[in-house]
Amino acid sequence: MYRWSRQANDPAPVEKTPMIPLSAPSMKTGSWQQQLAGAFSRVGDLLNYLDLEDHLEPGMAAADNSFSIRVTHFFASLMEKGNIHDPLLRQVLPLSAEMENIPGFSTDPLADQAAHEGHGILHKYHGRVLLITTGACAINCRYCFRRHFPYADYQMTASHWSALLEQLRKDKTVREVILSGGDPLSLANERLHTLIQHLQDIPHLRRLRIHSRLPVVLPDRLDEPLLDMLAGTRLSTSLVWHINHPREISTEFTQAVLPLRHRGIPLLNQAVLLKGVNDRVSVQTELSETLFESGILPYYLHQLDPVQGAAHFAVNDQEAAELYTLMQASLPGYLLPRLVREIPGAPSKTALTPSQNGQPGIDAGFP
Ligand code: SF4
Repeated sequence: MYRWSRQANDPAPVEKTPMIPLSAPSMKTGSWQQQLAGAFSRVGDLLNYLDLEDHLEPGMAAADNSFSIRVTHFFASLMEKGNIHDPLLRQVLPLSAEMENIPGFSTDPLADQAAHEGHGILHKYHGRVLLITTGACAINCRYCFRRHFPYADYQMTASHWSALLEQLRKDKTVREVILSGGDPLSLANERLHTLIQHLQDIPHLRRLRIHSRLPVVLPDRLDEPLLDMLAGTRLSTSLVWHINHPREISTEFTQAVLPLRHRGIPLLNQAVLLKGVNDRVSVQTELSETLFESGILPYYLHQLDPVQGAAHFAVNDQEAAELYTLMQASLPGYLLPRLVREIPGAPSKTALTPSQNGQPGIDAGFP
């Protein structure tokens, strides 16, 4: 399924034209919208750029057809050329393994559709709702738990938006709105501005949270109007990035988030535990320390959601618990993310803790 569902004011869709390999210094030319529109959208082009053209396999095409490749040039510039096992490349490269049907892995692993209250509102936890604002992302992560999500059925028209706001006005138990997607920062500033204005006009709403990976793969997205908008709302605002590997924390990204830090906006990170990407203690330790140096606190380390096509990324609970024990021994408590799993229907995230006998255990939930 091709996930890019374009809406008015969203950047132009990717054209499948042959890509001329770019050198690193030219990776950030043009506006963020132009960079987004020029993202790699063909496996062959990405592999050529990385000097890995010999690794192009027929099986990649089926995986690409099922969930199309999408990688910004900036993110590709962070990958190591000539290394097919590069942990950043592994997160975005379609593989034939995605087409295997593995028991326990489904197209809706978190029962998002059961939690849908209508108008793009997902209500799973008390006091918080999540809004599916768009289906667009700057990068298509192969392990994404929403890789099969029927975004086309959730297209937001003007009447949907007003119905959504009306629903939020009526439900006075909701204190926090989480903008999700897709990636909410793929929306144009004007649309985000309108949405945030409407949300802050609802008296019982107190907090706004934005979940995004976009500035990690396209730091220019954090432009001045967006920064002003985030700092200017009366809602207490936090940003939760999605960063899985320390090499994703580029100098450009660190510079781009600096104004958010100066404006006092809390920055957190949630990562997904992924085999072959970040399942070593040295990588997790470096991730936490580099995040902190960039003013970002490690928040969650998620066990993989069992989405069809991502089984080759799974780290079993035993290995995850052993890794976490080593992380506990290596990091101060404030740099230790909470190792959690989302269980459909549970009232909160569920902590996965190492127990006395070395077997993974389930602990009290986290918000
Ligand atoms: S950026 Fe987030 S929502 Fe988009 S594909 Fe990656 S994991 Fe999924």
